Amino acid sequence: MIYKTYKPIDPVGRIVIPKDFRDAVGFSEGEDLLIEVEEGRIVLSKAEQTCIFCENTSGLKSYKGKTVCENCIKALNS
Ligand SMILES: [Zn+2]
Repeated sequence: MIYKTYKPIDPVGRIVIPKDFRDAVGFSEGEDLLIEVEEGRIVLSKAEQTCIFCENTSGLKSYKGKTVCENCIKALNS
């Protein structure tokens, strides 16, 4: 299904992404989104979870709202 709509940008640059659009791609409330500019378009994607120190994407643990990988946890403990 193709979704298309027109939305105004408010004075500080915000737009509302319609619920059916969010549901179509699995965006959830409170979830971080990756925002990129590609060839004149603004692209929104689900942000991939990465370690806050090394950007590793595997072996991740969450602590007080931050994501850290097992390698960095070991380095911090040594
Ligand atoms: Zn790490």
